[in-house]
Amino acid sequence: MSSVSQSVKSLIRPELLALRAYHVPDSADMIKLDAMENPYHLPQFLRDEVASAVAAAPINRYPDPDPYALKEKIRLLLGLPGGMDVLLGNGSDELIQLLALAVNKPGAALLSVEPSFVMYRMIAIFVGMRYVGVPLAADFSLDLKATLAAIHKEQPALVFLSYPNNPTGNLFSKDDIRRIIEASPGLVVLDEAYYAFASDSFMPHLTNYPNLLVMRTFSKLGMAGLRLGFLAGSEAWLEQLEKLRLPYNVGVLPQLVAEKLLDNHSVLLQQADQIKVDRETLYRQLNAMVQVYPSEANFLMFKVSDATRVFEDLKRRGMLIKNLNGGHPMLTDCLRVTVGTPAECGKFIEALQESIS
Ligand code: PMP
Repeated sequence: MSSVSQSVKSLIRPELLALRAYHVPDSADMIKLDAMENPYHLPQFLRDEVASAVAAAPINRYPDPDPYALKEKIRLLLGLPGGMDVLLGNGSDELIQLLALAVNKPGAALLSVEPSFVMYRMIAIFVGMRYVGVPLAADFSLDLKATLAAIHKEQPALVFLSYPNNPTGNLFSKDDIRRIIEASPGLVVLDEAYYAFASDSFMPHLTNYPNLLVMRTFSKLGMAGLRLGFLAGSEAWLEQLEKLRLPYNVGVLPQLVAEKLLDNHSVLLQQADQIKVDRETLYRQLNAMVQVYPSEANFLMFKVSDATRVFEDLKRRGMLIKNLNGGHPMLTDCLRVTVGTPAECGKFIEALQESIS
Protein backbone atom coordinates (compact mmCIF):
# COMPACT_ATOMS: atom_id res chain seq x y z
CA MET A 1 0.00 0.00 0.00
CA SER A 2 1.38 3.48 -0.87
CA SER A 3 2.07 5.86 1.97
CA VAL A 4 -0.67 8.21 0.73
CA SER A 5 -3.35 5.56 0.90
CA GLN A 6 -2.03 4.46 4.28
CA SER A 7 -2.40 7.99 5.65
CA VAL A 8 -5.86 8.27 4.08
CA LYS A 9 -6.93 5.03 5.72
CA SER A 10 -5.54 5.96 9.09
CA LEU A 11 -6.79 9.58 9.17
CA ILE A 12 -10.23 9.54 7.59
CA ARG A 13 -13.14 8.54 9.85
CA PRO A 14 -14.04 4.87 9.28
CA GLU A 15 -17.71 5.66 8.61
CA LEU A 16 -16.61 7.96 5.76
CA LEU A 17 -14.23 5.33 4.37
CA ALA A 18 -17.18 2.92 4.30
CA LEU A 19 -19.46 5.39 2.51
CA ARG A 20 -19.98 5.57 -1.22
CA ALA A 21 -20.00 9.15 -2.56
CA TYR A 22 -23.35 10.44 -3.89
CA HIS A 23 -23.20 9.36 -7.51
CA VAL A 24 -24.19 11.83 -10.23
CA PRO A 25 -24.29 10.00 -13.56
CA ASP A 26 -22.94 11.49 -16.78
CA SER A 27 -25.88 12.97 -18.67
CA ALA A 28 -24.17 14.53 -21.71
CA ASP A 29 -26.44 14.30 -24.78
CA MET A 30 -29.13 12.46 -22.83
CA ILE A 31 -32.78 13.32 -22.28
CA LYS A 32 -32.39 14.09 -18.61
CA LEU A 33 -35.28 12.86 -16.52
CA ASP A 34 -33.36 11.75 -13.43
CA ALA A 35 -33.04 14.74 -11.11
CA MET A 36 -36.43 16.47 -10.82
CA GLU A 37 -35.28 19.55 -12.70
CA ASN A 38 -37.72 21.92 -14.38
CA PRO A 39 -37.30 21.17 -18.12
CA TYR A 40 -38.21 24.66 -19.31
CA HIS A 41 -35.97 27.58 -20.19
CA LEU A 42 -36.83 31.08 -19.11
CA PRO A 43 -38.66 33.31 -21.58
CA GLN A 44 -36.31 35.49 -23.64
CA PHE A 45 -37.29 38.78 -21.94
CA LEU A 46 -36.33 37.33 -18.58
CA ARG A 47 -33.07 35.89 -19.87
CA ASP A 48 -32.20 39.36 -21.18
CA GLU A 49 -33.00 40.94 -17.81
CA VAL A 50 -30.91 38.35 -16.03
CA ALA A 51 -28.04 38.88 -18.47
CA SER A 52 -27.90 42.64 -17.91
CA ALA A 53 -28.24 42.26 -14.14
CA VAL A 54 -25.38 39.73 -14.15
CA ALA A 55 -23.26 42.03 -16.34
CA ALA A 56 -23.53 44.75 -13.70
CA ALA A 57 -23.05 42.45 -10.72
CA PRO A 58 -20.24 43.33 -8.27
CA ILE A 59 -18.56 39.92 -8.39
CA ASN A 60 -15.31 41.42 -7.09
CA ARG A 61 -17.11 41.82 -3.74
CA TYR A 62 -18.28 39.22 -1.28
CA PRO A 63 -22.05 38.69 -1.39
CA ASP A 64 -24.45 40.39 0.98
CA PRO A 65 -24.28 38.08 4.01
CA ASP A 66 -27.92 38.75 4.87
CA PRO A 67 -29.80 39.75 1.70
CA TYR A 68 -32.82 41.52 3.14
CA ALA A 69 -34.61 42.23 -0.16
CA LEU A 70 -34.36 38.59 -1.31
CA LYS A 71 -35.55 37.29 2.04
CA GLU A 72 -38.43 39.77 2.06
CA LYS A 73 -39.53 38.56 -1.41
CA ILE A 74 -39.45 34.97 -0.17
CA ARG A 75 -41.46 35.90 2.94
CA LEU A 76 -44.10 37.65 0.86
CA LEU A 77 -44.34 35.29 -2.14
CA LEU A 78 -44.06 31.94 -0.39
CA GLY A 79 -46.90 32.34 2.09
CA LEU A 80 -44.93 32.63 5.32
CA PRO A 81 -47.18 33.34 8.29
CA GLY A 82 -46.57 36.66 10.10
CA GLY A 83 -43.68 36.65 12.54
CA MET A 84 -41.83 33.85 10.71
CA ASP A 85 -38.42 34.41 9.15
CA VAL A 86 -36.19 32.60 6.63
CA LEU A 87 -32.64 31.33 6.63
CA LEU A 88 -31.02 30.87 3.22
CA GLY A 89 -28.98 27.84 2.24
CA ASN A 90 -26.73 26.87 -0.65
CA GLY A 91 -29.45 24.44 -1.71
CA SER A 92 -31.55 22.78 0.97
CA ASP A 93 -28.93 20.02 1.30
CA GLU A 94 -26.81 22.58 3.12
CA LEU A 95 -29.67 23.32 5.49
CA ILE A 96 -30.07 19.64 6.38
CA GLN A 97 -26.40 19.61 7.31
CA LEU A 98 -26.67 22.82 9.29
CA LEU A 99 -29.65 21.48 11.28
CA ALA A 100 -27.84 18.23 12.04
CA LEU A 101 -24.74 20.12 13.19
CA ALA A 102 -26.84 22.35 15.41
CA VAL A 103 -28.52 19.61 17.47
CA ASN A 104 -25.81 16.93 17.40
CA LYS A 105 -25.12 16.63 21.11
CA PRO A 106 -23.42 13.36 22.13
CA GLY A 107 -25.85 10.49 21.48
CA ALA A 108 -28.44 12.65 19.70
CA ALA A 109 -30.47 10.96 16.94
CA LEU A 110 -31.79 12.06 13.56
CA LEU A 111 -34.96 10.16 12.63
CA SER A 112 -36.60 9.81 9.27
CA VAL A 113 -38.72 7.29 7.42
CA GLU A 114 -37.60 4.85 4.71
CA PRO A 115 -37.57 4.92 1.80
CA SER A 116 -37.13 8.66 1.69
CA PHE A 117 -34.54 11.24 0.66
CA VAL A 118 -31.14 9.58 1.09
CA MET A 119 -29.36 12.74 2.26
CA TYR A 120 -31.01 12.60 5.70
CA ARG A 121 -29.09 9.43 6.46
CA MET A 122 -25.95 10.50 4.61
CA ILE A 123 -25.75 13.81 6.47
CA ALA A 124 -26.32 12.10 9.82
CA ILE A 125 -23.25 10.00 8.96
CA PHE A 126 -21.28 13.07 7.76
CA VAL A 127 -21.74 14.85 11.08
CA GLY A 128 -21.36 11.71 13.20
CA MET A 129 -24.98 11.62 14.36
CA ARG A 130 -27.01 8.56 15.24
CA TYR A 131 -29.51 7.79 12.44
CA VAL A 132 -32.85 6.04 12.91
CA GLY A 133 -34.85 5.01 9.81
CA VAL A 134 -38.44 3.88 10.37
CA PRO A 135 -39.88 1.80 7.50
CA LEU A 136 -42.97 3.15 5.76
CA ALA A 137 -46.07 0.97 5.47
CA ALA A 138 -46.31 -1.24 2.36
CA ASP A 139 -48.35 1.43 0.51
CA PHE A 140 -45.65 4.03 1.36
CA SER A 141 -47.88 5.83 3.86
CA LEU A 142 -46.47 6.56 7.32
CA ASP A 143 -46.49 3.66 9.73
CA LEU A 144 -47.74 5.89 12.53
CA LYS A 145 -47.56 3.29 15.26
CA ALA A 146 -43.98 2.32 14.43
CA THR A 147 -42.94 5.96 14.00
CA LEU A 148 -44.42 7.04 17.33
CA ALA A 149 -42.82 4.03 19.03
CA ALA A 150 -39.42 4.92 17.54
CA ILE A 151 -39.81 8.56 18.63
CA HIS A 152 -40.69 7.42 22.14
CA LYS A 153 -37.72 5.04 22.29
CA GLU A 154 -35.04 7.08 20.53
CA GLN A 155 -36.07 10.63 21.57
CA PRO A 156 -34.69 12.08 18.31
CA ALA A 157 -33.36 15.62 18.41
CA LEU A 158 -34.29 16.02 14.75
CA VAL A 159 -37.00 14.46 12.55
CA PHE A 160 -37.10 14.94 8.78
CA LEU A 161 -40.24 14.21 6.77
CA SER A 162 -40.26 14.81 3.05
CA TYR A 163 -43.69 16.25 2.10
CA PRO A 164 -44.31 15.03 -0.64
CA ASN A 165 -41.91 12.15 -0.17
CA ASN A 166 -38.96 11.51 -2.48
CA PRO A 167 -38.75 8.97 -4.15
CA THR A 168 -42.30 7.66 -3.64
CA GLY A 169 -44.09 10.91 -4.59
CA ASN A 170 -46.97 10.70 -2.10
CA LEU A 171 -48.06 13.22 0.54
CA PHE A 172 -48.23 11.64 3.98
CA SER A 173 -51.41 12.01 6.05
CA LYS A 174 -51.59 15.42 7.64
CA ASP A 175 -53.12 14.01 10.82
CA ASP A 176 -50.30 11.47 11.14
CA ILE A 177 -47.74 14.26 10.77
CA ARG A 178 -49.51 16.33 13.42
CA ARG A 179 -49.28 13.37 15.80
CA ILE A 180 -45.57 13.04 15.03
CA ILE A 181 -44.92 16.75 15.64
CA GLU A 182 -46.84 16.60 18.92
CA ALA A 183 -45.03 13.46 20.08
CA SER A 184 -41.55 14.71 19.15
CA PRO A 185 -39.28 16.01 21.87
CA GLY A 186 -37.03 17.59 19.24
CA LEU A 187 -37.28 19.61 16.06
CA VAL A 188 -39.47 18.36 13.22
CA VAL A 189 -38.55 19.60 9.76
CA LEU A 190 -41.07 19.26 6.97
CA ASP A 191 -39.02 19.12 3.78
CA GLU A 192 -41.25 20.65 1.13
CA ALA A 193 -38.78 20.47 -1.76
CA TYR A 194 -41.69 19.63 -4.11
CA TYR A 195 -44.15 22.21 -2.72
CA ALA A 196 -44.76 23.75 -6.15
CA PHE A 197 -46.42 20.54 -7.36
CA ALA A 198 -48.26 19.53 -4.18
CA SER A 199 -51.81 20.17 -3.00
CA ASP A 200 -50.92 20.87 0.61
CA SER A 201 -48.27 22.41 2.85
CA PHE A 202 -47.36 22.81 6.49
CA MET A 203 -46.28 26.42 6.00
CA PRO A 204 -49.54 27.83 7.44
CA HIS A 205 -49.09 25.62 10.53
CA LEU A 206 -45.69 27.00 11.50
CA THR A 207 -47.29 29.17 14.14
CA ASN A 208 -49.13 26.20 15.72
CA TYR A 209 -46.08 24.17 16.69
CA PRO A 210 -43.03 25.54 18.48
CA ASN A 211 -40.90 22.58 17.30
CA LEU A 212 -41.76 22.81 13.58
CA LEU A 213 -39.66 24.21 10.73
CA VAL A 214 -40.52 24.09 7.03
CA MET A 215 -37.71 23.69 4.50
CA ARG A 216 -38.07 24.43 0.81
CA THR A 217 -35.84 24.68 -2.21
CA PHE A 218 -36.10 26.61 -5.46
CA SER A 219 -34.28 23.79 -7.27
CA LYS A 220 -37.43 22.10 -8.57
CA LEU A 221 -39.06 25.37 -9.56
CA GLY A 222 -36.47 26.12 -12.23
CA MET A 223 -33.41 27.23 -10.26
CA ALA A 224 -31.51 23.99 -9.66
CA GLY A 225 -28.34 25.60 -11.02
CA LEU A 226 -28.52 28.51 -8.57
CA ARG A 227 -28.46 26.34 -5.43
CA LEU A 228 -30.90 28.16 -3.20
CA GLY A 229 -33.01 26.72 -0.43
CA PHE A 230 -34.55 28.18 2.69
CA LEU A 231 -35.72 27.25 6.11
CA ALA A 232 -38.83 28.97 7.42
CA GLY A 233 -39.60 29.24 11.11
CA SER A 234 -39.50 31.34 14.20
CA GLU A 235 -36.69 33.75 14.95
CA ALA A 236 -35.78 31.84 18.14
CA TRP A 237 -34.65 28.81 16.07
CA LEU A 238 -33.23 30.70 13.14
CA GLU A 239 -30.99 33.00 15.18
CA GLN A 240 -29.23 29.95 16.63
CA LEU A 241 -28.92 28.25 13.24
CA GLU A 242 -27.59 31.51 11.75
CA LYS A 243 -24.49 31.10 13.92
CA LEU A 244 -23.58 27.94 12.00
CA ARG A 245 -24.29 29.30 8.54
CA LEU A 246 -21.01 30.02 6.77
CA PRO A 247 -20.83 33.79 6.23
CA TYR A 248 -21.17 33.95 2.43
CA ASN A 249 -23.00 30.71 1.66
CA VAL A 250 -25.16 32.19 -1.11
CA GLY A 251 -23.11 33.89 -3.83
CA VAL A 252 -23.65 37.24 -5.53
CA LEU A 253 -25.02 35.68 -8.74
CA PRO A 254 -27.51 33.27 -7.15
CA GLN A 255 -28.85 36.11 -4.98
CA LEU A 256 -29.23 38.42 -7.90
CA VAL A 257 -30.75 35.93 -10.33
CA ALA A 258 -33.13 34.51 -7.71
CA GLU A 259 -34.42 38.01 -6.99
CA LYS A 260 -35.06 38.59 -10.71
CA LEU A 261 -36.86 35.27 -11.01
CA LEU A 262 -38.96 35.90 -7.93
CA ASP A 263 -39.96 39.25 -9.44
CA ASN A 264 -41.38 37.05 -12.20
CA HIS A 265 -42.70 34.34 -9.92
CA SER A 266 -45.80 33.83 -12.09
CA VAL A 267 -43.60 32.61 -14.98
CA LEU A 268 -42.21 29.84 -12.77
CA LEU A 269 -45.61 28.99 -11.32
CA GLN A 270 -47.04 28.64 -14.82
CA GLN A 271 -44.27 26.21 -15.68
CA ALA A 272 -45.04 24.26 -12.49
CA ASP A 273 -48.74 24.19 -13.45
CA GLN A 274 -47.83 22.81 -16.87
CA ILE A 275 -45.68 20.14 -15.21
CA LYS A 276 -48.64 19.15 -13.00
CA VAL A 277 -50.89 18.73 -16.04
CA ASP A 278 -48.20 16.71 -17.82
CA ARG A 279 -47.68 14.59 -14.71
CA GLU A 280 -51.31 13.44 -14.97
CA THR A 281 -50.91 12.55 -18.65
CA LEU A 282 -47.70 10.66 -17.91
CA TYR A 283 -49.39 8.90 -14.98
CA ARG A 284 -52.23 7.68 -17.22
CA GLN A 285 -49.80 6.47 -19.88
CA LEU A 286 -47.62 4.66 -17.36
CA ASN A 287 -50.66 3.22 -15.61
CA ALA A 288 -51.63 1.47 -18.85
CA MET A 289 -48.21 -0.22 -19.00
CA VAL A 290 -46.79 -0.77 -15.50
CA GLN A 291 -47.54 -0.31 -11.80
CA VAL A 292 -47.23 3.43 -11.11
CA TYR A 293 -47.66 5.27 -7.82
CA PRO A 294 -49.72 8.46 -7.33
CA SER A 295 -47.54 11.56 -7.06
CA GLU A 296 -47.87 15.11 -5.79
CA ALA A 297 -44.36 15.95 -6.99
CA ASN A 298 -42.73 16.53 -10.39
CA PHE A 299 -41.78 12.87 -10.76
CA LEU A 300 -43.43 9.46 -10.84
CA MET A 301 -42.23 6.24 -9.32
CA PHE A 302 -43.11 3.03 -11.12
CA LYS A 303 -42.33 -0.64 -10.92
CA VAL A 304 -41.26 -3.04 -13.68
CA SER A 305 -40.22 -6.67 -13.68
CA ASP A 306 -36.49 -5.94 -14.07
CA ALA A 307 -35.66 -2.32 -13.23
CA THR A 308 -31.93 -2.52 -13.86
CA ARG A 309 -32.38 -4.01 -17.33
CA VAL A 310 -35.01 -1.38 -18.24
CA PHE A 311 -32.87 1.42 -16.80
CA GLU A 312 -29.83 0.34 -18.82
CA ASP A 313 -31.93 -0.14 -21.94
CA LEU A 314 -33.42 3.36 -21.62
CA LYS A 315 -29.90 4.72 -21.15
CA ARG A 316 -28.82 3.09 -24.41
CA ARG A 317 -31.78 4.82 -26.02
CA GLY A 318 -30.50 8.20 -24.76
CA MET A 319 -32.78 8.55 -21.77
CA LEU A 320 -31.59 9.01 -18.20
CA ILE A 321 -34.03 8.24 -15.37
CA LYS A 322 -33.30 7.05 -11.81
CA ASN A 323 -32.85 3.40 -10.95
CA LEU A 324 -34.07 2.95 -7.37
CA ASN A 325 -33.47 -0.79 -7.37
CA GLY A 326 -31.08 -1.78 -4.57
CA GLY A 327 -31.48 1.50 -2.68
CA HIS A 328 -33.97 0.01 -0.22
CA PRO A 329 -35.79 -3.35 -0.02
CA MET A 330 -39.16 -1.62 -0.59
CA LEU A 331 -37.83 -0.13 -3.84
CA THR A 332 -36.96 -3.41 -5.55
CA ASP A 333 -37.54 -3.03 -9.30
CA CYS A 334 -38.68 0.58 -8.90
CA LEU A 335 -37.68 3.41 -11.23
CA ARG A 336 -38.30 7.14 -10.93
CA VAL A 337 -38.88 9.48 -13.83
CA THR A 338 -38.99 13.27 -13.72
CA VAL A 339 -41.85 14.92 -15.60
CA GLY A 340 -40.15 16.56 -18.59
CA THR A 341 -41.62 18.50 -21.49
CA PRO A 342 -44.49 16.78 -23.33
CA ALA A 343 -42.02 15.89 -26.12
CA GLU A 344 -39.55 14.35 -23.64
CA CYS A 345 -42.32 12.43 -21.87
CA GLY A 346 -43.56 11.16 -25.25
CA LYS A 347 -40.09 9.88 -26.15
CA PHE A 348 -39.75 8.30 -22.73
CA ILE A 349 -43.08 6.44 -23.01
CA GLU A 350 -42.16 5.22 -26.50
CA ALA A 351 -38.77 3.96 -25.31
CA LEU A 352 -40.26 2.32 -22.22
CA GLN A 353 -42.91 0.60 -24.31
CA GLU A 354 -40.20 -0.89 -26.54
CA SER A 355 -38.06 -1.79 -23.56
CA ILE A 356 -40.72 -3.73 -21.67
CA SER A 357 -42.43 -5.44 -24.60
N1 PMP B 1 -35.10 17.47 -0.13
C1 PMP B 1 -35.60 16.57 -0.98
C2 PMP B 1 -36.78 15.75 -0.55
C3 PMP B 1 -35.04 16.40 -2.24
O1 PMP B 1 -35.55 15.47 -3.07
C4 PMP B 1 -33.93 17.20 -2.63
C5 PMP B 1 -33.25 17.08 -3.96
N2 PMP B 1 -33.38 15.95 -4.65
C6 PMP B 1 -33.44 18.11 -1.70
C7 PMP B 1 -34.05 18.23 -0.47
C8 PMP B 1 -32.22 18.95 -1.97
O2 PMP B 1 -32.46 19.94 -2.87
P1 PMP B 1 -31.46 21.14 -3.11
O3 PMP B 1 -30.18 20.86 -2.35
O4 PMP B 1 -31.26 21.18 -4.57
O5 PMP B 1 -32.12 22.36 -2.58
